[in-house]
Amino acid sequence: AAKSAGRGDFRFFAPQMAAVTRRRLAVEQALRGALQRQELSLHFQPQVSLGDWRVKGFEALLRWTHPELGAVPPGEFVPVAEECGLIGEIGAWVVKQACLEAMQWPAGLTVAVNVSPVQAMSHELCRSVEAALQASGLPAVALELEITESVFLNETQATMQVLHALQALGLRIALDDFGTGYSSLAYLRRFPFDTLKIDRSFVLELLSRRDARAIVKTIVSLARTLDMKIVAEGVEDAAQAEMLQRYDCDSVQGYWLARPMTPPQVLEFLALWPAQLERPVAGGDATA
Ligand code: C2E
Ligand code: MG
Ligand code: MG
Ligand code: MG
Repeated sequence: AAKSAGRGDFRFFAPQMAAVTRRRLAVEQALRGALQRQELSLHFQPQVSLGDWRVKGFEALLRWTHPELGAVPPGEFVPVAEECGLIGEIGAWVVKQACLEAMQWPAGLTVAVNVSPVQAMSHELCRSVEAALQASGLPAVALELEITESVFLNETQATMQVLHALQALGLRIALDDFGTGYSSLAYLRRFPFDTLKIDRSFVLELLSRRDARAIVKTIVSLARTLDMKIVAEGVEDAAQAEMLQRYDCDSVQGYWLARPMTPPQVLEFLALWPAQLERPVAGGDATA
């Protein structure tokens, strides 16, 4: 590879690789004590039903701020946590913290927690979830776990057992980032997901590309047939939301409604909703 890249490229490439490796090592080292130093926190982003505009619940999104590295995005540190065996411990903290926060919200709201495919392959996940529900007192129906299709890449008996055991606890399981993975359709038959989340890459192109619209329409009708709820992620404007409503999507999540928020901001958001979104609320409490 070095030969075909040419000398000039190689001289440029080597120091860059060294920088990547240094960063990776720094992140790993810092991450080892992050939980104990209380550097992790959760932000929450609302999921709102199309049509009646009720807040259904929030997705918990992990945040890490290190004194020297600053804010490290989950897209960078979650894979490191998976590789160096920290994801079990961090994941257990996330689900417990998410359940505790959800207990501060009005009853009936759900909290969605992202689960790494690495976690989903171990029975430890079941124990963490049960412990979180017990410690917080949150009813299982208020908890949804989000997993991605990559969980099926190394699909084992253990993975399927874990997923079924979780569902048996009474919580819901969502398939996250749907449409970005591998042979997506096959997985829908392997496991009875409760919710399907349409990846934001399709939402992004909803207005500009006919093929994205065709894919979204097809995903929605497929999900309907399989009796799954549909959430569209990454909704950034009203036009996208309107189109998703027209396509019979159940709910939306994205910057258009709110960015991920701290727990106090969530309570403020709930107190102001729906007045802050200037649109009539059909079928709200007054008329229901
Ligand atoms: P995800 O589960 O698909 O989460 C949605 C991501 O899209 C979040 O990024 C969110 O901030 C972002 N987002 C939401 N609305 C919009 C929008 O309108 N436009 C755009 N451009 N982006 C939007 P975030 O928080 O950086 O998380 C990235 C990924 O990291 C998550 O993707 C999830 O896979 C992973 N992750 C986050 N928290 C956890 C966690 O607690 N555990 C595990 N295992 N993974 C996590
Ligand atoms: Mg998610
Ligand atoms: Mg997603
Ligand atoms: Mg995503």
